[in-house]
Amino acid sequence: MLRLFLLALSFGLLLANCTAVPATETDIAGAMATGRNAVAPEVARVQAQTFVAVVNAVEPVAEAECRLRNPAANCDFRIVVDDRRGMPPNAFQTLDDQGRPIIAFTLPLIAEVQNADEMAFIMSHEAAHHILGHLDRQDQNAAMGAEIFGQLATVQGATTEAQIRAAQQLGAAVGAQSYSKQFELEADALGTVLTARAGFDPLKGAEFFFRIPEPGNGFLSTHPPNEARLAVVQEVAATIGGFPP
Ligand SMILES: [Zn+2]
Repeated sequence: MLRLFLLALSFGLLLANCTAVPATETDIAGAMATGRNAVAPEVARVQAQTFVAVVNAVEPVAEAECRLRNPAANCDFRIVVDDRRGMPPNAFQTLDDQGRPIIAFTLPLIAEVQNADEMAFIMSHEAAHHILGHLDRQDQNAAMGAEIFGQLATVQGATTEAQIRAAQQLGAAVGAQSYSKQFELEADALGTVLTARAGFDPLKGAEFFFRIPEPGNGFLSTHPPNEARLAVVQEVAATIGGFPP
């Protein structure tokens, strides 16, 4: 059975090493209704209910797809509510020190989503990053970028260790980000399929993009424009026959 965890106010700890305690719907609603940025208890209860229902529907679908694509991978998703105070609305994925995939949601995100479809889309998107191996691929790109920029700097006459190291650091940043827009679109595409398969509407879910700020188009900006993301969702939703699939 799937268990939810609360990050037990372990502020300052890295998520990958955190101690987390099992959480119920009541715990999550309680955390949302207290402290800074607290929401009304009725709202907290409804949002926590939606969250738990979506996690229970999406997790098995994500796990099955993960096992199908990567039989050797750790597909035992651990869903964590990040209840540290003062966090922005956010969801993210990482691995714990045993390599177990973690998907974390901050309390303000759970409070802000407008419906179960949005919640399902966000969770499916994060699970898709893990299923598609994006963390590993991002590390590889960073390492390759550092090497290439370091070599280029040497060729162009950088002689001190500091100059070469600066070039390597820039290279790592460029390398890590060069594929990240592509990763976001890939996660949106697979996320669309997982959302629909779990019984939610990915087109309604993707409306979340319209409420988050449009990312800048800077050299190192990590996210593709919301319009590009929505186009991917629409295209994939059309190929799987819309909703329900
Ligand atoms: Zn993402």
